[in-house]
Formats: sequence, C-alpha cells, structure tokens
Amino acid sequence: MSRHMFSLKNISVNYGSTVALRPVDLDVEPGRTLVLIGPSGSGKSTLLRVMAGLVRSDGQLLFDGAPVTDWRTVRRRIGYVIQDGGLFPHLTARQNILLMSRELGLDNADRARELAELTHLQPDQLDRYPAELSGGQRQRVGIVRALTLDPDVLLLDEPLSALDPIIRAELADELKTIIETLGKTAILVTHSLSEARFFSDRLVLMRDGSVVQEGSFESFEAAPADPFVTKFIEAERKL
Ligand code: ADP
Repeated sequence: MSRHMFSLKNISVNYGSTVALRPVDLDVEPGRTLVLIGPSGSGKSTLLRVMAGLVRSDGQLLFDGAPVTDWRTVRRRIGYVIQDGGLFPHLTARQNILLMSRELGLDNADRARELAELTHLQPDQLDRYPAELSGGQRQRVGIVRALTLDPDVLLLDEPLSALDPIIRAELADELKTIIETLGKTAILVTHSLSEARFFSDRLVLMRDGSVVQEGSFESFEAAPADPFVTKFIEAERKL
C-alpha cells in the first residue's frame, strides 16, 4: 500500500480553555481529495492548520510516512489557500505568486505563467495589486501562488466561500480540474455539503472538535453514524 500523505493519531488542540480539537485520527491518501465538512466552530480549520504546521497540537502527526522534525522543509511541499486569496495587499499578483520562489532563490517565472494560464488569469492581471482584482481573480492568484513550488499537497480553507454563485461554480470546476490534472493530494474545508460532494466522495464530517463520520455522502445517508449526520444533511437540503 502507498504511504499516507498525512497520518494523524490522537491529534488534539486546545486554545487556553477552549477545546478546538478532541483526539482525532485521520489518514490522508495521496493523489486524492479529502473534504473536511461541518458547522462553523467544529474544528475544520484547526485540523487543516495542524496539517499546515500553523497550529501546535498534541498527538502524533506523520507527513509522507515520517514524523515532522522540520516544518520549514515540509511546508515547501504544501500549498495553502485561504478564503479570498490571502494575498499581500502591497504586492502585485505576480509578486505575491513569486514571493516564496524569490526567497528560496528559485526562478519560477515560467511556471507561474503556465499556472496563470491554467487558471485563466490574463497576463495584465498579474501586474495588478489585489485591490484592483475581483474576488474570483484574487482567489485564482491565491491558487497559483500555492502551486508555484509544485507542492505535493494543497490545503484549501473555504477557498470558494467569498465568491458569488456564478464565479464560485466556475472556479469550483477549474479547481477540481487543476487538482486532477496536476495529480495533487488535496484537503478542502467547507461548510457546504453540495460543494463537498462536488469535490470528493471522501468526506470527513466534524462536530465539536471531533470526527463524527468518514465516508461518501451516500454512506452518510444510508448509514448515519449519529443523528447529527441526518440533521446536517436535512438542514442542507432545506436550503
Ligand atoms: P471551523 O473551521 O469548523 O469553523 P475552527 O477550527 O475555526 O472551526 O474553530 C474550532 C474552535 O476553536 C472554535 O470554538 C473556535 O472558536 C476556537 N478557535 C479557533 N481558533 C482559535 C484561536 N486562535 N484562539 C482561540 N480559539 C480559537
């Protein structure tokens, strides 16, 4: 069997007296998309941030089969995308995209150009500042930036939530194609069940810092592990 991209055992996170994550076990297979879903405050972002090396946790975390001893090395193999792009406002799109490459002394200008093409960004948009771009364009820049170092994994925290419905649908399509074309492992956080189902048949449903159920949407429907699973599905259906 191939190695897991991430393997989490008994991972927990506390912020002072707030328990953000209760002991969680999770294996992330390479080359596939896994979706973390659940209501606001259920611990999805915290779990993603643990895998990005941004939050300190208790328990055991393996990346590509080995315990992480140096996050700086591991982080180069991880692309991280947040809502609305998370771009530096005082840098142009191109400067945002090439920031890390420049810091590492790598010439990734050609790669950035190819990725911009793949995400349908126009060359002149790359010379604009984030405030001069639309929400969809900013998010495209955020995606290109995350892919520039050719990471093994993409971590996506509500990447489509700040967008209007048409752009959101368009970018969802593009993002899914990019992940599949480039063969990346992806972990995507969302509170939308329809978005979750669009991206993957491997969903991890969370509540209150715990994993309630793992599997496909169909398995949630057919064999809910907890009444909360049914409640969550029905609440989404109503909308
Ligand atoms: P989700 O992504 O599912 O909305 P989060 O992982 O952001 O949930 O939050 C899980 C819990 O941890 C919530 O109760 C939230 O208030 C708390 N929390 C998250 N980040 C912090 C922080 N930096 N400091 C204190 N509490 C936090």
